[in-house]
Amino acid sequence: MARELRVAGIAASPGIAIGRAFVYRKQAPQVEKRQVSDPATEVARFRGGLSRAKGELLEIKRQIAERLGESEASLWDAQVLLLDDPTAVEATVGRIRGQRQDAASAFQETMEVMIRGMEATDNQYLRERAADVRDLAWRVIKHLQFQTTAIPLAIPKQAVVVGHDLSPADTAQLLGRKAAGFVTEAGGATSHTAIVARSLEIPAVVGLKGAMLGASQGDLVVVDGLRGVVIFNPDEKTVRAYRRELKNYTGRQHDLQRLRKQRAVTADGFAVDLAANIELPEEMPSVKSHGACGVGLFRTEFLFLTSDHMPTEDEQARIYRRVAEQARPDPVIIRTFDLGGDKIGEDYQESNPFLGWRAVRYCLDRPDVFRTQLRAILRASAHGAVRIMLPMISSPDEVRRSRELLESCQRELAAEGVASDPAIRLGIMVETPAAALVADELARLSDFFSIGSNDLTQYTLAVDRTNERVAKLYDPFHPAVLRLIREVIDAGHRAGIWVGLCGEMGADPLAVPLLLGLGLDELSVSPAAVPEVKRIIVGLRHDRCRQAAAAAMAAASPQQARAGLREFLRRALPGLRLLDESCPLELE
Ligand code: PEP
Ligand code: MG
Repeated sequence: MARELRVAGIAASPGIAIGRAFVYRKQAPQVEKRQVSDPATEVARFRGGLSRAKGELLEIKRQIAERLGESEASLWDAQVLLLDDPTAVEATVGRIRGQRQDAASAFQETMEVMIRGMEATDNQYLRERAADVRDLAWRVIKHLQFQTTAIPLAIPKQAVVVGHDLSPADTAQLLGRKAAGFVTEAGGATSHTAIVARSLEIPAVVGLKGAMLGASQGDLVVVDGLRGVVIFNPDEKTVRAYRRELKNYTGRQHDLQRLRKQRAVTADGFAVDLAANIELPEEMPSVKSHGACGVGLFRTEFLFLTSDHMPTEDEQARIYRRVAEQARPDPVIIRTFDLGGDKIGEDYQESNPFLGWRAVRYCLDRPDVFRTQLRAILRASAHGAVRIMLPMISSPDEVRRSRELLESCQRELAAEGVASDPAIRLGIMVETPAAALVADELARLSDFFSIGSNDLTQYTLAVDRTNERVAKLYDPFHPAVLRLIREVIDAGHRAGIWVGLCGEMGADPLAVPLLLGLGLDELSVSPAAVPEVKRIIVGLRHDRCRQAAAAAMAAASPQQARAGLREFLRRALPGLRLLDESCPLELE
């Protein structure tokens, strides 16, 4: 019997699956470049293939819309649009006519240039989309060769599908087959497999190098989508441990579902607005299904990362409006662009982008970009409860100048007769130590605060949050960070505004009693983290959280603060299992 093999990848969709591997090897099309005698007929053949591929994608999109709703189905729009992209089509037709080349090889060569360009960028989002374009090319060529693009029907029930990459179309075809889990070699947390798997609530691990080598058809596989681990050919002990884990997880999910419609209120009546962070509009169904109360942070940077031009006011307004309508009656906090000027199409390099020309600094220097976004957000505010949030504020002047611009956009839209919310709230992220230290003054200029604990930790401790060498120094429970968080909450409350937190810290169970005890009003975490955080909140008493927070604030080190909070949670919620404690296996 084959030996157990454990491989770590990226946890893309939570849950545990135990099933037999269905290894999905996509047959690459065999394309032989040849000369054609009648280019006009070949062009017609090419257009026929394109149109069949398009018909197929539209049909897949229709099925997705039926199963998951229009918003999920919009993932397919980009692929369909690409089939109409005049550059790709004309370049292929040019090759057929000019070089008398056959349609399949002409299209393959054209798409290869496009794919290599996308793969070579340092933009992760575009690199991940390259896989979609490759899939599209594959589909069109298969149609040109009159070969099937369907995934074989003989997938066993409850199979774990293991593939190099699963395109949106592949994932869609697997919808009806009740896959138990997905494992892919390629992809990141924002790849389409990940997004679709999360909406379908199918456990998935992606970015697992060598997955296809690890699995043979029919092997037993465990997918641990909670920790990003896959175990091929698990031995009996592992299977037993994971069956227990699966039972516990299913039981916990069942309990959490019951909380979905409940508000996040402590046992003694302290209410917290528990919202979700999103990076893509496609995540909205997940916000709803996890029982979040709106969107506490909508990161809008994807608009730049998914398109090769400056997103227009209309394009942005359409997207913001869609999100606002889906969230209604709950609010959506749209954060203005938090990108470096180098990413927004300015041709220059920075040696230290985290301290550079980015976020609100860039926007204030480029009022054309800023106004376009503010006008688009204002237009969306007529269709839902929309709020605006400014990133990386470090001085009151930045808030004043942003508000002036906002008001001028409001006047402009009113003069044009375009509807918008005249009382739209303008808040700020408190994520630099400077902002935290002048929070009193900032609170007088802002309608709300949201603490960006990711950056606040990085800037306070002078630890680059993406540098693995210093990762162990990065700790939001450091007394310096905790004191700033307390100061910000107090300053906000003295000025009569609400204070939230939208960094990763909010999803750490240990941080929940601490933040509640400090008086935080709102918490925004990833959609999947919402149920667990809600369960902790409803199980706690606010008066006790205040005591736990006071003890954590007096701790001399992050370790001491954590130990106290861990003990507090153990006593307050005896049934709660913290993920790191519940790992059924020690990964070596
Ligand atoms: C933060 O800094 O805590 C935050 C939420 O923003 P981002 O992670 O997008 O920088
Ligand atoms: Mg930040």
